[in-house]
Amino acid sequence: MSLRILPALALAFVAHAASYHFAAVWDGAKLWRDACIAVEGDKIQSVGPCTGPSTDLTRYTAIPGLIDVHTHMTYVLANPVARSARSAATVFLSQDNARKTLETGVTTVRDLGASGYADIAMRDLIAAGKMAGPRMFVAGYGLQNTRGDTVTPNTAHGPVETDKVARAQIAAGADWVKMYASTGSGQDVTGAQTYSFDEIKAAADAAHALGKRIAVHSYGPDGARDAVRAGVDSLEHATDMDDATIAEIVRRKIVYVPTIDHNRYYVDNAQLLRYPPEAPGRLNDYIQRNLATARKAFSAGATFAMGSDAVYTMFGENTRELAWLVKAGMTPEQALVAGTANGAALLGMEKSLGRLLPGYFADLVAVEGDPLADIQVAIQKVRWVMKAGQVVVEKR
Ligand SMILES: [Zn+2]
Repeated sequence: MSLRILPALALAFVAHAASYHFAAVWDGAKLWRDACIAVEGDKIQSVGPCTGPSTDLTRYTAIPGLIDVHTHMTYVLANPVARSARSAATVFLSQDNARKTLETGVTTVRDLGASGYADIAMRDLIAAGKMAGPRMFVAGYGLQNTRGDTVTPNTAHGPVETDKVARAQIAAGADWVKMYASTGSGQDVTGAQTYSFDEIKAAADAAHALGKRIAVHSYGPDGARDAVRAGVDSLEHATDMDDATIAEIVRRKIVYVPTIDHNRYYVDNAQLLRYPPEAPGRLNDYIQRNLATARKAFSAGATFAMGSDAVYTMFGENTRELAWLVKAGMTPEQALVAGTANGAALLGMEKSLGRLLPGYFADLVAVEGDPLADIQVAIQKVRWVMKAGQVVVEKR
């Protein structure tokens, strides 16, 4: 044995995992009672019966860090900075959104649309440990078929342009492509199709050719139908989907992200957002149809992931969507799978996120109560959060 490797060997023997003792651990599929999670560096080393000394978290149940697959982390209500420098300021102002998201137990997000690549800046700052926040997978500019003559960096008309603009996002550093295949956003709940099958197909093929995935926004059924046939990876909102489209998302294993709760947020904050008096009525009607569609898709066997579509002051409410998933027919455990393992698989991270297993990132959430009996425990009773081995929320 060479002397030169001795110091490294000695270190390996000295370095020991930190152990955390919980009343119960739900590892993403099964429940351990009175169990310890050993963490070494940013990874989980083991889950199981306690052996040595450990940090006492025996008032709590551990669940995997939650994954919110639909955020707009860079949407801030008021940005006082001049237009030319707005996205630089956005990165600074969005720190609040990132911190509030962590407080809900969300340790990973897929951020679906931003201006000025503020999302890429945030992702990289968070990854480098320079900003507190969840791990981010980002989309850059979401492709839009703008009517009129305004051309913005997200404008794409026709399949040649949707191919080109999708590639441009990936070249800029995006992890995902986001495409708006219908109208509908904020108080506007119309769902008129804005991209044709060919336009969606061109963007989806571009993303896939470059090893990336694509999420398609469609408030209504027509954009959703064509997005599904074009082979997209996830479908956002997608209210009033017909039975054939639902059957097809099941067959193709496309992930459905209904984002029911964001319209509840808009209703609750209609005054803050200066919506007209008739907006809440329209939003509540949409919520009911969104829930009915989710119920239908769930009973047909569709795979769901948890997406809040959080913007502005909704951060901190990211996981309220779980309660809607339960209303759509899931058990609390099935809703938690949507909020953990299914999100991880959608991101292509099923071997490192979404479960509490050896070798996975040490993303742990301590909740007070039994989240498998009452989903509100996961929503309202988050007391402690660890992300990649570091405690990021302490509310014990
Ligand atoms: Zn959105």
